[in-house]
Amino acid sequence: MKFGGTSVGSLEAIERVSKIITETKGNKVVVTSAMSGITNYLVACCEDLKNKREETIADFEERHLAVARAMFDEKQYAAFMEEFTPRFEAFKKLLRDDKAARGAYFEDNVTSQGERFSSLLLSHKIRAMGYKSVALTSEDCGIIAEGKPLAGNANLRMTETNMGIYVMPYVSQGIIPIITGFYGITQDEKPLTFGRGGSDYAAAVVANALNADTLEIWTDVDGFMSADPRVVPNAVKIDEMSYDEAAELAYFGAKVLHPRTIEPVRKKHIPLKVRNSFKPEEQGTLISRYREIHDEMLRSVAAKTDLSIVTIYSPEVAYRPDVVSKILKKISENEDAIYSISTTLSTIALLIHNNDVKSTLSKLYQMDNEEVERIDVLSDVALVCCVGDSLMSQYGVCGDVFSAVKEVGANVCMISEGASDISLNFVVPNSDVFSVVKVLHEKFVEKESA
Ligand code: ADP
Ligand code: ASP
Ligand code: MG
Repeated sequence: MKFGGTSVGSLEAIERVSKIITETKGNKVVVTSAMSGITNYLVACCEDLKNKREETIADFEERHLAVARAMFDEKQYAAFMEEFTPRFEAFKKLLRDDKAARGAYFEDNVTSQGERFSSLLLSHKIRAMGYKSVALTSEDCGIIAEGKPLAGNANLRMTETNMGIYVMPYVSQGIIPIITGFYGITQDEKPLTFGRGGSDYAAAVVANALNADTLEIWTDVDGFMSADPRVVPNAVKIDEMSYDEAAELAYFGAKVLHPRTIEPVRKKHIPLKVRNSFKPEEQGTLISRYREIHDEMLRSVAAKTDLSIVTIYSPEVAYRPDVVSKILKKISENEDAIYSISTTLSTIALLIHNNDVKSTLSKLYQMDNEEVERIDVLSDVALVCCVGDSLMSQYGVCGDVFSAVKEVGANVCMISEGASDISLNFVVPNSDVFSVVKVLHEKFVEKESA
């Protein structure tokens, strides 16, 4: 069971989810996010450490202790403080250490601190209710991460071995482990975060490692919905989805799941449920290998903003597969995500994040003039991801979708269609993306369900 920031963001929220946890039958393991707002605060602190350090330490302490004071009696509070104090001392030391002591994963270490304290509050609350529980950090569990700072990947094989040793014994004794989400540790024991929203992925990694029967992601909406409800108020909950559908939408912007959540559970066919911690009586969305096909043209729409199209002019590149592979190899040295690729006789267009343009260009400029003649960049665009049934084989889907886009006056700058039967992706300017998502939802999701 994974609980997100709003689900553990206050005294009332922690009490609510403690009830959900203890009333759930069978063996369970919990993964938690930081209290809502805490990670953003820690990110801001890293950006201006000199000025924000002391204020962050004081606010951080008070946010957690205010909940503990209200939640625990004297004895319970003392037991909580016994674990809180050494963790908090380590946090203060981390922020106050001079630059030389920081190392490559400093920002990962600072931003992962919220999870270390929310897990303590939750575990002690469960103990206060008379159940056995233990708060474990990713270090305690041996959740192994690899990769660049702030963008870790889990090593599933090593994590499975470690969790068998360090976590399973608690589970078999009926003790409920409350584990920190968001980060793993490198092989030399440095915290490495999985990217923002990474607690979903951490929970999927834990579910994989423990061969769980089910992974439940408890959040603040009714389930996986037909669009972001903040953009489309009429968005509806989807009862069942396939792994493929959820993975596409999460990767292309549906914030309800971290982009990589599906991969670890899909590997072991573990069903995933997205549920609302404010409405535990509702069933949420079930994501699994199979689902019934209803031939709905569009089931859900997501969007990823702040992207750039980099167009590389390379004479007659279509006849030169060696040049295509050289260009892609060169760019992949940065390990940045490429969201889409489109080609013509003499151009290759790549869709990447705005923040990766500079590093991508510096790699391309290392190639010789004959291979890369000219480069154009169009920034501040967004990818719209439409997921539905038989999108490639249904007659007229593209015509209908792009007619709707035309109605709101948006210009389509790049298209990816045909690579998959369940998704149709295209790019529009950032400034048009919300009206595009809204019109597609209104015309194809709302109309169909009506
Ligand atoms: P948590 O803290 O529980 O991880 P997040 O804020 O990361 O919660 O994710 C939940 C939010 O994702 C919702 O409040 C909603 O605004 C947003 N969201 C975006 N797209 C979708 C979607 N397709 N279905 C449900 N929620 C979505
Ligand atoms: N607390 C982390 C974040 O805000 C991880 C998560 O909530 O999933 O990004
Ligand atoms: Mg989240």
